[in-house]
Amino acid sequence: MSVPARIDLHTHSTASDGTLTPADLVRAAAEAGLDVVALTDHDTTAGWAPAVAALPPGLTLIRGAEISCRWFGAEPAIPLHLLAYLFDPAEPHLAAELARVRRAREERGERMVRLLQADGIPVSWTEILTGAGGGTVGRPHIAQALIRAGLVATTTEAFGPDWLGERYRLPKDDIEVFQAVALVRAAGGVPVFAHPKASRRGRIVPDELIADLAAAGLAGLEADHEDHDPAEREHVRGLAADLGLLVTGSSDFHGTHKTVRLGAHTTGPEAYERIVALARGVTPVASS
Ligand code: AMP
Ligand code: FE
Ligand code: FE
Ligand code: ZN
Repeated sequence: MSVPARIDLHTHSTASDGTLTPADLVRAAAEAGLDVVALTDHDTTAGWAPAVAALPPGLTLIRGAEISCRWFGAEPAIPLHLLAYLFDPAEPHLAAELARVRRAREERGERMVRLLQADGIPVSWTEILTGAGGGTVGRPHIAQALIRAGLVATTTEAFGPDWLGERYRLPKDDIEVFQAVALVRAAGGVPVFAHPKASRRGRIVPDELIADLAAAGLAGLEADHEDHDPAEREHVRGLAADLGLLVTGSSDFHGTHKTVRLGAHTTGPEAYERIVALARGVTPVASS
C-alpha cells in the first residue's frame, strides 16, 4: 500500500459516553479515511456486536474496552485508564469485574446527583439514566443534564472545578490496576495504558509504577493523545523505549461530548501489528 494505514485505537460510542451509536461510529471511521479503528467503550463490550454488524468494507475493527482502574500506592488512590484490546469477552473473571464496575458507576452517579440536588440543582437521576440509553454511565451524562438545565454551556464547563471536576466529583469503585492487567492478560487481551501522563486530567502516576506494570504484563503506552502536551508525549515515548513497550496514538473520540475528531492522532503499523500478534482472545474483524 502506498498510502500509510490510518489506525485509531481509542474511540467511544453510545455503549458508554460517546454520542454516535457503534454502527454510526464505524461508518464515521470509514468516512474519516481510517483503515483500522478500535472501539474502546468504558468498562463494556456491549458495542462490539452492532459495530461488527455495521462494519463498512475496507475498515478493520479492533474490539476493545477502556477499563476504569485505580492505583492504591498514593493517598487518595489515583484513577487511571487501561485500554484492553482483543480480549475474550466471555472470560468470566474479567466479565464479572466489568459488570461490577458498571454497577459501581451507577451507584456513584446517583450519589453525585443527590449531592447536586442537595444544593438545589434541578437534575434527575432517571433522566440521566435515560440519556445514557443503557450505555455505561459516566460524568459526561451528568454534564448533559447540567447543560439541559441551563447551568453550564458546554461539557468542558461542566468538568470545571465548581461542577463535576471537583466539587461534585465522587470516586468510582474501580479495578485495582495490577489486577486489571492480570485479568486482561488472562482473557487473552493486550493492555495499553491510556493517556498515562495527562497531567491536565488530574494527578498522574509515577514512572516507577509504569515500570512495575510493564513487568506485570502491560504491553504499551498511549503517547499521542490530546490531553498530553508535547513534553509529556516525548516523556512517554522515552519511557516506552526504556521499558520495551509499544507506543500508540489515538483520538479518544467521544462524538459531540468532546471536540476531538476521529483520526486526530494515529498509531503506527508496527505497534498495531504487535498488538495483533500478542492477542489471544478475539481477532480483528474485517468485512469482505
Ligand atoms: P467518569 O468515567 O464518569 O469519571 O468520567 C470521565 C469521562 O469524562 C472521561 O472518559 C471523558 O470521556 C470525560 N471527560 C473528562 N474530562 C473531560 C473534559 N474536561 N471535557 C469533556 N469530557 C471530559
Ligand atoms: Fe469517556
Ligand atoms: Fe480515558
Ligand atoms: Zn477514552
